[in-house]
Amino acid sequence: MTVRATKRGADRTPLAGARADVLVCGASFAGLAVARELAGSGADVLVLDRYDVGERATSACAAPTPWLHAMGVEGSIRHELPYMRFTTPHGSVRYRLPWSWSAFDYRELCELLAAQADARFDTAKVEGRTERGVLTDRGEVEAPLVVDALGWRRVLSDPHFQPPEAPLSRGLEVHPPHGGGGDELHCWVDRSVVRHGYGWHEPAADEVRIGVRSYDPRRHVKDATVALAEREAGQAVRFQGNWFPHRLRPAADERTFFAGDSAGHCFPLSGEGIRTAFYFGISAGREIAAVLEGAKPRAAALRDHAAFSAAHAPAYRHALRLQRLVPALPPRLLTLGLRAFTPLVDRAFTWYLAQAHPGMAAAWQATQTTSSVGSRPSARAI
Ligand SMILES: Cc1cc2nc3c(=O)[nH]c(=O)nc-3n(C[C@H](O)[C@H](O)[C@H](O)COP(=O)(O)OP(=O)(O)OC[C@H]3O[C@@H](n4cnc5c(N)ncnc54)[C@H](O)[C@@H]3O)c2cc1C
Repeated sequence: MTVRATKRGADRTPLAGARADVLVCGASFAGLAVARELAGSGADVLVLDRYDVGERATSACAAPTPWLHAMGVEGSIRHELPYMRFTTPHGSVRYRLPWSWSAFDYRELCELLAAQADARFDTAKVEGRTERGVLTDRGEVEAPLVVDALGWRRVLSDPHFQPPEAPLSRGLEVHPPHGGGGDELHCWVDRSVVRHGYGWHEPAADEVRIGVRSYDPRRHVKDATVALAEREAGQAVRFQGNWFPHRLRPAADERTFFAGDSAGHCFPLSGEGIRTAFYFGISAGREIAAVLEGAKPRAAALRDHAAFSAAHAPAYRHALRLQRLVPALPPRLLTLGLRAFTPLVDRAFTWYLAQAHPGMAAAWQATQTTSSVGSRPSARAI
């Protein structure tokens, strides 16, 4: 059963002496995917985040619909978008995709994932790795198995990633009210919107999510976001922003698993990092489950998770090359290229989905019907 124990003010008592079999740091897409994967393992799984589950969204929250079904979180879907439109200064091209995007509600999705995990949840700011676990603003927590799902900063590695020197993109979006309707995710690849990057417009039921991403972390995007939102929706309200990693990083060191943005799992070019956080979170969860079952030692699990992630490096390198190429293309050539791409859409987007396929999540359903809670040994013996 999921137990939430968010503590504020005087109730924020020390966690010192706290211990868990598995400590998942970060309760967003990657961390919740790890915790969900460990349901039924019998291990004491503690998930820590500085905020309550689902409290702080940092993304436009659009993901491939098949992934939301595979994770059992389709109840959080607010708006399905079967089309994508790309607009340049010289024209606009609309594609029907072989699969759709869905805009979802962040809090609801996180709560649905948390409900599938039999983990403990608590709030604390994670400050760094220690010999036996992690240091938090509420004291040290000990655990033999630790996951950093804390996002782009990669808090549990030394040194952390820090903009503007780190390979990160900058993103900002607003959420004006929306009258409903719309069937497309619209992207602007237009230097008058942003020099290196793109703008987006994503209807999500009663709001629209409008944002701008710059591949160059030194370029601020607030003016560009406000201008796009005022042009497309008449106002720029309810801001949220964050950094996107755009280069793969090692998914493990000698004692910590990394998944999601902490491992640079967000795709370059598209900035899509939700399904990859699920995908690599599942990989980390499976490796940890193997350690809990006694099927492999921790060192082998860390190595295998890192190797699984590294096997995807060619796709990431390809996307990074495109991220550099696309903003450099003359706009007329880009427009012609987008038009010529139409017959290839099905093949290209099928390939793109396959780089982190929702089939990865399907096995979870099977595990849940065959395993009984507590049937696997505890990690205390590790
Ligand atoms: C503006 C914007 C829009 C985006 N839109 C999309 C989109 O529509 N679709 C898509 O696929 N991707 C999108 N992305 C990328 C996507 O948001 C990320 O790739 C994704 O959130 C990564 O998930 P994660 O779980 O690894 O990290 P995060 O979602 O960043 O979660 C990290 C968690 O760790 C917690 N945390 C961080 N530091 C600490 C600490 N020190 N102590 C305790 N807790 C901590 C945070 O509170 C958070 O809950 C967008 C990114 C931005 C910036």
